[in-house]
Amino acid sequence: MTTTIDRERDLAVDELVRFPDVDLPDSAVDLRRQVRVFLDEERRRGTVMGRPDSWLSGWDRGFSERLAGRGWVGMALPTRYGGSGAGPIARYVVIEELLAAGAPVSAHWVSDRQAGISILGHGTDEQRETFLPAIAAGRCFFSIGMSESESGSDLASVQTRADEVDGGWKMNGTKMWTGGAHLNDYAIVLARTSDHENRHDGLTQFLVDLRAPGVRVEGIELLTGEHRFNAVHLEDVFVPDNRVLGNEGDGWKQVTGELAFERSGPERFLSTLPVLESLLGVLAAQSNTDHQLAVVGTLTARLVALRALSLGVASALQAGESPDVQAAMVKDLGTRFEGDLVEQVREISPVAPAISATIGTHPELLAFALLHTPGYTLRGGTNEILRGIITKEVTAR
Ligand SMILES: Cc1cc2nc3c(=O)[nH]c(=O)nc-3n(C[C@H](O)[C@H](O)[C@H](O)COP(=O)(O)OP(=O)(O)OC[C@H]3O[C@@H](n4cnc5c(N)ncnc54)[C@H](O)[C@@H]3O)c2cc1C
Repeated sequence: MTTTIDRERDLAVDELVRFPDVDLPDSAVDLRRQVRVFLDEERRRGTVMGRPDSWLSGWDRGFSERLAGRGWVGMALPTRYGGSGAGPIARYVVIEELLAAGAPVSAHWVSDRQAGISILGHGTDEQRETFLPAIAAGRCFFSIGMSESESGSDLASVQTRADEVDGGWKMNGTKMWTGGAHLNDYAIVLARTSDHENRHDGLTQFLVDLRAPGVRVEGIELLTGEHRFNAVHLEDVFVPDNRVLGNEGDGWKQVTGELAFERSGPERFLSTLPVLESLLGVLAAQSNTDHQLAVVGTLTARLVALRALSLGVASALQAGESPDVQAAMVKDLGTRFEGDLVEQVREISPVAPAISATIGTHPELLAFALLHTPGYTLRGGTNEILRGIITKEVTAR
């Protein structure tokens, strides 16, 4: 027998996992067309290589500046700080086009997706005026300084410490897997500033200049031989008081808010789309088996469904909601899709993957994506952690 309590609980869970239907406005069609024209121009320049994972591997300062020149970096920032104030749905249209094309967006990716929003939300006026116009101009690039070798999923266990000194803080510790730290300008570093029984207390975020004395960036080589990630050693690094982000001790609350932006975007299911595109080019040149067509059809159906869910998350963000559970669901489904896509494309490809430095042909793209597959379900929070978040929220209703 269904009781009133059961019905109320069902309604509460329905609300928690609601994905609004989104009809993109006419302005989005026009915007998409403009982005495609821009991308065609960039293809002619030779900057858009159509590679998978371009939001992590395609670091191109010139591309970021030109994109910003069109008003397509900092779209979530208000015009007062150099942004376009266009909001999450317009930004979504722009970034899905960039990701699908495999455009080199990694220089400004973190600044645009989360650092600017964190500074807007928690920063001082001076920090907003210093960083936000530079971010929106595609000229100030941030890395994420959260993880450490013993603190990934259990982020509250970070060992990096900042101790108060005259005029600021002295920071010591090592951040791991810090994407782009060898190229970027700043990292938002999560550090412990005081000890408490509750480990979520006493953490603070800092805007750390990656060129400051005492910062040593050591590259980590990926399976492909690429250098994207780093261990960032912080040895007595002085961080002035005006580079504390938000309130001292509020780091946990701030970092979880930042993770919501880190986890909710279309890069969590579109990273490997260029591999499907390149397969379609190969298949178009020959007759295809029913199995090949069925695999392409199934992947496309999953992609369309994921896009609808992901747009629902963007629309909830636009409405000022915090769709953390929906974002966790889309990231769990989306990152599994990214890996499945690569594996299934490999299975039906008429040609074998081939490792090469050029990464232009289908076999080369496939090999490149296969070597990156282990990371899809780890980065930005593992799928087990995401499922924990979903379960906790659903059972709390
Ligand atoms: C490609 C890539 C890019 C990255 N970029 C950055 C970056 O720029 N900046 C940054 O700060 N970090 C970055 N990271 C780090 C990333 O956030 C961590 O790898 C991730 O949070 C997992 O932490 P860990 O590697 O320490 O694994 P662990 O936390 O040690 O987890 C190991 C395994 O145990 C499982 N596990 C752990 N705890 C639980 C639990 N409570 N319940 C169930 N299962 C659990 C995990 O799911 C995982 O399978 C990146 C990682 C990758 C792979």
